[in-house]
Amino acid sequence: MNIFDRFRLDGKKAFVTGGARGIGKYAAIALAQAGADIAIIDRDMEPAQAAAEEIAAFGTRTLAVGADVSEYSDVQSMMVKILSEFGTVDIAFNNAGICINKNTQEMSLEEWKKVIDINLTGIYLTAKAAGMVMVAKKAGSIINTGSMAGHIIPEPQYHCAYSASKAGVIHLTKSLAAEWGIHNVRVNSISPGYIDTGLTQAVQRRSWIERVPLKRIGKPEDLQGAVVYLASDASSFTTGSDILVDGGFCCW
Ligand code: NAD
Repeated sequence: MNIFDRFRLDGKKAFVTGGARGIGKYAAIALAQAGADIAIIDRDMEPAQAAAEEIAAFGTRTLAVGADVSEYSDVQSMMVKILSEFGTVDIAFNNAGICINKNTQEMSLEEWKKVIDINLTGIYLTAKAAGMVMVAKKAGSIINTGSMAGHIIPEPQYHCAYSASKAGVIHLTKSLAAEWGIHNVRVNSISPGYIDTGLTQAVQRRSWIERVPLKRIGKPEDLQGAVVYLASDASSFTTGSDILVDGGFCCW
């Protein structure tokens, strides 16, 4: 088969959490352009609906589902909705996340728990929900959003809960890949560096650019190639991997 054909996702059913905006929305666009039907999952329903309508222009089916990924009952209802509309799930991009930039002395226990609940437990819940469908049919690709903060400690802003949650995502990914490889379910993560989205608006960025070898902040589009690669047969022997998309930040 032609290598470019192996990147195609025609007829595949995908969901993207945190798909209303930022990295998730651009990933959903790329998956739709490759041919997949897309369910946009987000706790903000209005922008999720708008994203789904925009992505429908690429000619595949779309669906918007409101869910908080840290709530077990929401994840269950989300899967019921996806399965009733699409019949199955082939690709899960577990991407929803938040960041609280605070020094450890200033971070409350509630803030710590909120970050861990959404960034780590949320990925566990949505990966497990998708994985159970995929294990049963012995096919599927799960992609989790980690961060370069799961590898190194970025500065000047500090966010111990965020860094710990993302290191957890990268190791959870490897753990699921080891468990589910025998069922032909691949599980990988993508670790973005600094990307221009709502998540990074509140932080001063000049010092970041100086430290990025490519001398710029990333755009959500910079993640699209890695997402389609990991979702598709082009990555058929790749599981348990983490792809850093950070402009080289972690080289230092
Ligand atoms: P963003 O804020 O632009 O988008 C995040 C989306 O997730 C939003 O639409 C939000 O409503 C949704 N969301 C948040 N909590 C949710 C929940 N509990 N349930 C359902 N949806 C929820 O941020 P982004 O930059 O696109 O971030 C996407 C992912 O990329 C996150 O996991 C983030 O940690 C990771 N990341 C981002 C950067 C960056 O520089 N932007 C760097 C590394 C990793």
